[in-house]
This record gives sequence, structure tokens and C-alpha cells, in this order.
Amino acid sequence: MTTPTLLWLRRDLRLSDHAALEAAVARGGPVIPVYIRDHLTDALGAAPKQRLDMALEVFAETLEAKGSRLILRAGPAREVLEDLVRETGAGAVYWQRLHDPQAVERDTRVKSALKDAGLEVRSFPGQLLFEPWGVATGQGGYYRVFTPYWRAVKDRAVPEPLAAPADLPAPARWPGSDRRADWALSAPMRRGAAVLRAHVAAGEAAALTRLATFARDRIARYAEDRDLPAEDATSDMSQYLTTGEISPRRCWHAGLRARAAGKPGAETFLKELAWREFAAHLAWHSPELLSDNWRPEWRDFPWDANPERPEVLAWKQGRTGIPFVDAAMRELYVTGRMHNRARMIVASYLTKNLLAHWKIGCDWFADTLVDWDPASNAMGWQWVAGSGPDAAPYFRVFNPETQAEKFDPDRIYRRRWLAEGQAQPPDTALAFYQAIPRSWQLAPSDPPPTPREDPKRGRQRALDAYQTFRAAREEA
Ligand code: FAD
Repeated sequence: MTTPTLLWLRRDLRLSDHAALEAAVARGGPVIPVYIRDHLTDALGAAPKQRLDMALEVFAETLEAKGSRLILRAGPAREVLEDLVRETGAGAVYWQRLHDPQAVERDTRVKSALKDAGLEVRSFPGQLLFEPWGVATGQGGYYRVFTPYWRAVKDRAVPEPLAAPADLPAPARWPGSDRRADWALSAPMRRGAAVLRAHVAAGEAAALTRLATFARDRIARYAEDRDLPAEDATSDMSQYLTTGEISPRRCWHAGLRARAAGKPGAETFLKELAWREFAAHLAWHSPELLSDNWRPEWRDFPWDANPERPEVLAWKQGRTGIPFVDAAMRELYVTGRMHNRARMIVASYLTKNLLAHWKIGCDWFADTLVDWDPASNAMGWQWVAGSGPDAAPYFRVFNPETQAEKFDPDRIYRRRWLAEGQAQPPDTALAFYQAIPRSWQLAPSDPPPTPREDPKRGRQRALDAYQTFRAAREEA
């Protein structure tokens, strides 16, 4: 009789294209899926925690429909797994690899402890298309610039996704499980939880449907339309990739098939998926990307690191008085998502016009995004701020007014998210007031916020700060 296998799930809440699950089934004994609420789960921001809650809910139902279960336990991962091994007689623990430094550190410790205890411990790829150590420059180093990285990976063979296992062998007796409701993972969202919930379709089936629709109806025009925030023109895969309700390989193959069918946007889609890989590659090779200026000289830049500044609060509240910025910040608060072009614009406004430290924005996104990913988020912020690898040049300060004219010419996006000044604001704009803390004391009947400052002046101040910073460095 083969002993049970503990399948430790983390950011891979799916049945198909799951190498660790397939191997666990192939091993022959019962498979016991487990999610552990440890310090890394507890450290998640409010929206990512709620998104996880929703993903766990759907995944548990999916497993139950297959005659299996999702066992929930809280505590340090090693102790929980050791307890479960004792309780179930498991002889093996399998999981899918993560790449951010905190997860790597935890997993390395857990692996060596379980191996010392005589268990069979195996970790599998699947979170990424290309393991970060598997892509190297001609000199054997890592890539710091996207274009050569893209050239290095774009024609690599990526195996077809694995099918979901037909059966999930259950143990004779299931170990006890916490109740998901008792974890109250959605509680930090407070009243915003109900609003956000209406905007999220969680689960593997929803992800697969969304990908199929995107590949059928939208990918052909993706290259042209992906910059228009009012359009539903992008894949929305990021939240599913974050929870692992879909695999990157599944997305990649959808892109390859669309490219083979002659759909012009497919190549751009593949390239965007490679940006996610590039972020993970960078964070694995230079973990400081997540917490510090990737270019160390930027520590001397005169960022304002005070998160309590009224201008920063106004940014978070979508009350800067710059309609495109405010619309985007409200989209974020209501839906847990923000269009990529809008992310660049609000990040530029915060770090350049307001000279606020990029970490303030990075932390806010970590609290509010349902697709929060430590590597993509930090790379995005440092790219815009100028302190990151392959970053936008500092002097590129997005002008939110001209960006709005170009990418939201009919004001559809701004009207969708901003209630003030509209006689009959749409439900999307009104939902913001259902989601925000009452202590913000905002109402749709408020007059539209007036710009706290002229974007041209903010731009000039940013450029001046940069000139001074550069001159000081040249002198030093
Ligand atoms: P699509 O346009 O359909 O792209 C397909 C996939 O490619 C995405 O799902 C995503 O996995 C990947 N992708 C696309 N653009 C990028 C990019 N610039 N960097 C990395 N991967 C990319 N993305 C996250 O997944 N999590 C984050 O926390 C995150 N924070 C960001 C912060 C800032 C300041 C910026 C500028 C960008 C950030 N991004 C982040 C990248 C990007 O905005 C989102 O991936 C994208 O908007 C998700 O929408 P989509 O799935 O419809 O993307």
C-alpha cells in the first residue's frame, strides 16, 4: 500500500496543468490537498487576501466535486506539515515552486526538515514558463533588460499543458480541517468586500472561460486596444495567474495558437506574458528589487517617504483633481484591478509629480490589487519611478491630461468611475462610496475635486529634482 501524499497548495489552486498534482496521483497512494495559512498568508494585503479567500472557496468545491477535499490548517508550514504527516501516515510531500525570496526561504527550510525526517519531498515547476535560473546571458549572468530577455525566451519550446487527473484518490480517513469562514480572510476589506466580490469571478473554470473568450474575440485587436482603459480588451489573466487558478503555460499556448491562426495581437500578448517572467527572473536574481531601489544610487534621490501626506491620501482616495488619475484609483478601490496604462499614469503622478517614494504606491497596490504579485508590482513601480532595471527614463513624466485625451478620448473611463459633477452617475462610480471607509467622508454629491497643483509645475519640480540629483552624483 502506497502511503498518502500531502499536496501542499499555495499559488496553484487548479487541477489542470499541475505537475505536482499529477505526480502525486502517479505516486499511487491517496492524495491529501492542503492549504496552510502561515505568516506569508497573514502578511497579504486586504484585497489579495479576499481574492485568496474566493479562490480557496471555489477550489474546495472543485475538489469536493471530485470526491476529494481541501484541508485547511493554520500555523508555521513546517509544523503543520509535520502534524499532518503524523496524523495521516503520509510518506511524501509535493508542491509547486514559488520564486519570491520569502517563499524560497520558507520552502528551503521546510524541505530540508522534512527530508531529514525521512520523507520524500519534491517541488515542481509550473508557476512560471521559464525557471529564473534557466535563462542566462551569453556571459552566464541574468538579464537586466527586457528586449534581450524576450529574444532569449520567445522561441523556446514550452510543453503543452497537462490535463487534470481523472481521479483524485482519497484517504480512508480525512484529517481535520479548519473552516474557511473562521479564517475570515475577507474581513480586512470590511464593507468593500461585498463590492469587490461582485467584480471577481474566481476559480479555474472562470479563468479558462475568460481565456477562451479573449483568444476568440479580443486577441486579434489586442495590440491596438490594450491601451484603452475603457475597453475590455485585455485578458484579465493576471488575477488568475496570481492565485494559480490558471497556469502560464495554458496562457502561452492560447497565445501560440492565436498566432498560428494569424491573429495579429497574439505576439504582443505573448510578449506581455514574458514581462511577468522577466519580473520573476529579476526578483529571483536580485531580490532587493522587492524592497529597495534596484539602482542603489537612487537611495540619495529626494523621495518624500511620508505616507501620511495629504497629497498622498488624496491620491489613494482618487481625489487629486486629475480626472484620469482619480478614475484609475477608484477603479482600483472598487474592482481590485487597474488597467495597465492607468497603473503607469498613477504611478508616474505619485512618484514624479508628488515626488513620493515609489514604495508608498507599491504598498498601496499590495493592499488593493487582486492580482498583486510581488515581482510584477515592484518591477512596475521601479520601472515608472526610474530606479529599476530597464526603467523608463526619469524625464519621462506622463502627462495625465494628454494621456487621457489619447487613451480615453470620449471620457468613457473617467465617467465610469467618477461620480462628482455627473447628474446621474453610473453604478460603477457610485460603488466607490459603498466600498470606502466611512471615515473618508466622501459623497457623490461632493463638488469635483480641484487639482491640488498644476501638473506642469509638478513635472518641472520632478525634473529639477532629477537635475540636482544627477549633478550631485557627477560631483561626488
Ligand atoms: P494583459 O494585458 O492581458 O497581459 C497578459 C498577462 O501578461 C497579464 O495577465 C500579466 O500576467 C502579464 N503582464 C502584462 N503586462 C505586464 C507587466 N507590465 N509586468 C508584468 N507582467 C505583465 N501585474 C501583476 O500581475 N501584478 C501586479 O501586482 C502588478 N503591479 C503593477 C504595478 C505597476 C505600477 C505597473 C505599471 C504594472 C503592474 N502590473 C502588475 C503589470 C500589469 O499592469 C498587469 O499585469 C496587467 O494590467 C494585468 O491585466 P491583464 O491580465 O488584463 O493583462
